[in-house]
Amino acid sequence: MIIVMSPKATQQNLEDVIKKVESNGLKVNLSKGEERTIVGVIGDKKKIANLEMIMMDGVEKTVRITEKYKLVSREFHPADSIIDVDGVPVGGKQLAIMAGPCSVESMEQLRESARAVKEAGAQFLRGGAFKPRTSPYDFQGLAEEGLKMLRKAADEFGLKVITEIVDKDDIDLIGEYTDVYQVGARNMQNFQLLKALGKAKKPVMLKRGLAATINEWLNAAEYIASGGNMNIIFCERGIRTYETFTRNTLDLSAVAAIKELSHLPIIVDPSHGTGRRELVEPMSRAAVAAGCDGLIIEVHPHPEVALSDGKQSLRPNDFRHLMGEVGKVAAVMGREL
Ligand code: PEP
Ligand code: MN
Repeated sequence: MIIVMSPKATQQNLEDVIKKVESNGLKVNLSKGEERTIVGVIGDKKKIANLEMIMMDGVEKTVRITEKYKLVSREFHPADSIIDVDGVPVGGKQLAIMAGPCSVESMEQLRESARAVKEAGAQFLRGGAFKPRTSPYDFQGLAEEGLKMLRKAADEFGLKVITEIVDKDDIDLIGEYTDVYQVGARNMQNFQLLKALGKAKKPVMLKRGLAATINEWLNAAEYIASGGNMNIIFCERGIRTYETFTRNTLDLSAVAAIKELSHLPIIVDPSHGTGRRELVEPMSRAAVAAGCDGLIIEVHPHPEVALSDGKQSLRPNDFRHLMGEVGKVAAVMGREL
């Protein structure tokens, strides 16, 4: 349930409402807008059903929320949330651009990548050190050695770090090096990992599962939020369909849907979304036109020798070109790059 306070409600009215909710064994989530404050009520369904709030001073109306996800819903929090990644915003007017190789391979590879993506205007360096590969015989990542390289290259070029976590026991280790934890598509419903990230101190980017509905994805985010970590970024990375020309089918309608249903930012990954280098730029333009808050793109200085995802990785020149084209769409959309 949400309790919509009237624009004339006093601070005392609000405090009384909160006291009543909490004294019934329920939790409060406050969203203060310019005009109105919205009090989200979370907890046992029966207790919420018995809560009588409408007669209280300062309460304009109460609204039942039928969806299971609450904290991540726009009903609970009507204004867009902007996630602050150590000074870099994700959400709001500025587009967040994350770019770099699929896997961390060497210091040399990372330095070349970091230089290229920084020069083209990215704010984040991406790269996996723990790789959830479909085959156990494929390159599995450099683990902590890779994390160190990632941090070093990012710091040299003034970039933030985003990297994947596959095991909840690695939260502290990865947290020493990264600015954002990436939950990959294969782990979107790894509920133990999501619960543990709910207690983590850094933002989480939650990729959509390979065959996840939008509702399942929102509920997965609710697992993180309900643990106390509201710094969540959605990432649409394509879903499995009958199409085989592309690696996945990039579902850009999910961008508009998430914008309607949630206050949290959403970025798009056209690299995994298509699996084909030549499709990455057009889909990036389309993603920005659809209203996304940023992009995550695989860039490799030498894709032909990449240890993973070379076919979908852009060369530095391709990425620079992409940024120019995306910039034109961003301008039309009233966004900054
Ligand atoms: C990746 O970002 O390299 C990755 C493995 O992505 P996904 O989880 O979307 O497949
Ligand atoms: Mn990849």
